[in-house]
Amino acid sequence: MNMLPGGCIPPQEVSVPRLSILDLSKEQLQHLLREWGEPAYRARQVWHGLYCQLAGTPEALSNLPKALCTRLSQEILWDPLTPLTTLRSRDGQTYKLLFALPDGAQVEAVLMHYARRHTVCLSTQAGCAIGCPFCATGQGGFQRNLSAGEIVAQVLYFARQVAAQGERITNVVLMGMGEPLANYEATWTAIRRLNDPEGFNLGARAMTLSTVGLVPGIRRMAHESEQVNLAVSLHAANDALRDQLVPINRRFPLAQVLEACRYYVAQTHRRVSFEYALMADVNDRDEDAHQLAELLGGLLAHVNLIPLNPTPGSLFRPSPRARVQAFQRILQQHHISCTVRLRRGLDIQAGCGQLRLHQREGKKPLLSGND
Ligand code: SAH
Ligand code: SF4
Repeated sequence: MNMLPGGCIPPQEVSVPRLSILDLSKEQLQHLLREWGEPAYRARQVWHGLYCQLAGTPEALSNLPKALCTRLSQEILWDPLTPLTTLRSRDGQTYKLLFALPDGAQVEAVLMHYARRHTVCLSTQAGCAIGCPFCATGQGGFQRNLSAGEIVAQVLYFARQVAAQGERITNVVLMGMGEPLANYEATWTAIRRLNDPEGFNLGARAMTLSTVGLVPGIRRMAHESEQVNLAVSLHAANDALRDQLVPINRRFPLAQVLEACRYYVAQTHRRVSFEYALMADVNDRDEDAHQLAELLGGLLAHVNLIPLNPTPGSLFRPSPRARVQAFQRILQQHHISCTVRLRRGLDIQAGCGQLRLHQREGKKPLLSGND
């Protein structure tokens, strides 16, 4: 970098982060446009443009005066995401993106098409500090929390894609990179933003937040008015094993997690989903299933069994299909509601964190997207 005498950096090389429009609340946007001398209805137009018309640039909003579009383009960051790698599964039903954020941090998000649904799996942090050994994100370390706008932008990106087919995003799962309850404020601001009836208008019940079991966050969630679904990643039904698989268990052991879940059910009258990734010879024996049933007995609960998505370099292997079925049968015998989750996009490293690891190691993705 060229230095001026005295060690100063020439002004044109100082990069000042631009204000990101998706990080503004409705009130903040109104305030900004009022300061710019715009009439009050402009903020409503811009808000509608961002979250209803899904405009990818200010220029896409034909009802704005040219001068305002130019100012918005020059002074405001409209979209914080730059797509780096696109992958589409062979069956075309799963579509994954690696994005760069303005500071160079990278996050992944996935779009999954089902018969009548289009679900986005989004990230709430770049990386994750929890470090679960079977998870590619956990193995890649932690960079930083995402802002609310960076979380919402992932949904808007895919919403624009499905809108081209006359469709809408029907569901959002916070199951990508990161621990949502470790970034509570931004995550809940994003949930409310997506839920806004004057904006994106996605029902809270169509959103599912998955947590590794941060007890204070679960208790706090119990008092939120939006009825977002809660999923808790268990993966083990005793502390000795869970200490290994989910290291935060040493801070919030199973008894505390389950107590927080009971509190959540009592406050909200909503059931909790428990995620259990089945790993061969680690947590998939009959006695693990009996222990899990005992742990969840009497709780308004549903178990999602997930055959492990193997990550490169990891010793953990998915349980064979017969073992998954046997495990499920035992839970059913104990009258625990339980489903086996379909594994999506194995051919495109759809387990979150895998694509970023892959890219960091300088490998080519298994399948490159065609757009
Ligand atoms: N941090 C949160 C949400 C992101 S992870 C959490 O842990 O719940 C979303 C889900 O994917 C969690 O249930 C997580 O345990 C699971 N997961 C992570 N790596 C996986 C893998 N390799 N195979 C199967 N599930 C995995
Ligand atoms: Fe973080 Fe969830 Fe991965 Fe654990 S499973 S490392 S909490 S993202």
